[in-house]
Amino acid sequence: MKVLKFGGTSVGSAERMKALIPLINDGEPKLVVLSAMSGTTNKLVDISTALYEHNNEKATEWIAALEKNYLEVIKKLYRTKEAEFKAEGLITSHFDYLRSFTIDLFTVNEERAILAQGELLSTALFHYYLEEQNIGSVLLPALQFMRIDENEEPDMNYIKTHCKAEIAKYPAEKLFITQGYICRNSFGEIDNLKRGGSDYSATIIGAAVNAEEIQIWTDIDGMHNNDPRIVENTYPISELSFDEAAELAYFGAKILHPTCILPAKMNNIPVHLLNTMQPSAKGTLISSKTIGDSIKAVAAKDGITAINIKSARMLLAYGFLRAVFEIFERYKTPIDMITTSEVAVSLTIDNIKNLDAIVKELNEFCSVEVDTDLTIVCIVGSFSAEKQGYAMRIFEALKNIPIRMISYGGSENNVSVLVDTKLKKDALVALNNGLF
Ligand code: ASP
Ligand code: MG
Repeated sequence: MKVLKFGGTSVGSAERMKALIPLINDGEPKLVVLSAMSGTTNKLVDISTALYEHNNEKATEWIAALEKNYLEVIKKLYRTKEAEFKAEGLITSHFDYLRSFTIDLFTVNEERAILAQGELLSTALFHYYLEEQNIGSVLLPALQFMRIDENEEPDMNYIKTHCKAEIAKYPAEKLFITQGYICRNSFGEIDNLKRGGSDYSATIIGAAVNAEEIQIWTDIDGMHNNDPRIVENTYPISELSFDEAAELAYFGAKILHPTCILPAKMNNIPVHLLNTMQPSAKGTLISSKTIGDSIKAVAAKDGITAINIKSARMLLAYGFLRAVFEIFERYKTPIDMITTSEVAVSLTIDNIKNLDAIVKELNEFCSVEVDTDLTIVCIVGSFSAEKQGYAMRIFEALKNIPIRMISYGGSENNVSVLVDTKLKKDALVALNNGLF
C-alpha cells in the first residue's frame, strides 16, 4: 500500500480536489491523508483567538464567512443535487458545532476541537465527491487510531494496531481516505500534531501500515537547494537521504513538518515529495540512500534565541553541562545549537515559553546573557570528516556576514551558523552564490 498526503492547497478548491482523481484512482491500494482546505486552519485559529478574548461577535462573523466559502465550494464540486444537499447538511452540522462555542466556556480543549474541524470537513467532502464519481472508497476516522502519548509523541503501537484494525474491516476496498493533523491525546481528548502536522500524520500512518512508499503532494516541485521565497534561481533536489531531509525540515525548509522524516527513516520507507500542479515532475526522493559527498542545500530557521552561559566554575569542572541541560530538560525546552569554550557555553532554543524560569535557575550558578531575533542558517549535505574544504567553502561564501555561533561536526550532514535575523537574506544569497 502507498500513503499519499495532499496539503491544503491541493484540496484548496473544487478544481484542485477534482484534479486529485487521476493521482489516486489507479486501482492500486492507497491510503490518502488530507489536510484542511488552505486557509481553513488559520481561520479556525482566528476564531479560537476571538473566543478566548470573549469577542463572540467577531467569532460569529468569521464562522459565517468561512461557512459561506464552503457552501460555495460544494456548488462547484458536485454534479448532482443529492450530493450537494448531503454536503450542505454536513457543513451546517460542523458550523453549528463551531457556533455552539460562542455560548459556552472556552478552554484549550474547545480550541483543539475547533482546530480539528478543517480536516474533518475536507475529508468528508472529498469522500462524497468520490462517491458521486462512483469511485469506491472508505473514510477512515483518524480519531479512532491516531494517538499521542503523555509526552505528545505518537503512540506507535496503539496507532499500528488500531489503524490496521480499521483497514481490516474493509477487505474488499483499495482506497482509504483519512484526516491528517488530528489525533487524540493520552486522555482521549481531541488533539493535533501541531501546525503543518498532516505530513507527520502521513509518515506515522505509513510506518503503521508498513507502506511501500509515502508520497507528500504539495504545490512546489520538491525540496529546493535554498529558500525560493528569498533567493532567486533555486532548484529542486532530486535525491536526499533521510538524515539530510530531516535536518532541512527541522531547520526551516517549510515544505515538510520538522519531525515527519523520523517514522519513515525508522521503518526505511521512502518519502517522495511531489507537485500536484506538475504531477509528472520528478520531485524529491528521500530514502536511506546517500549520494556522494556534497553540499546539497541551505535552509534557515528564524525566531531563535541564544543563551550565553558563563561560569568560572566550569573551568576544569565536570557535571557543569549536566546541571545546565537538566534545567532545559525540566522545562521541556529543546536545544538546537551548542558551542562551548572552557568557561562558557552558548546554546540556542526556539521555544521561549519558559525562558524566564530557565534563566532564573541558571542564574543561581552562572551568569547568563540572552540574545533574541536570531536565525540559524543550516548547510546540509554529506560532509565526510576525511574530506577537506567544506568549511572553507562555506566560510569563504559567508566572509562578509558577522557570525554569532558555528556548529560543525555534530553530524556529517549539517553545518549551522547563527546570524542576526536582519542578515538572513544576505547570508542565504551569499551561500547560494558561493556554494551552488
Ligand atoms: N491543517 C493543518 C495546518 O494548517 C495541518 C496541515 O495542513 O498539515 O496546520
Ligand atoms: Mg504543510
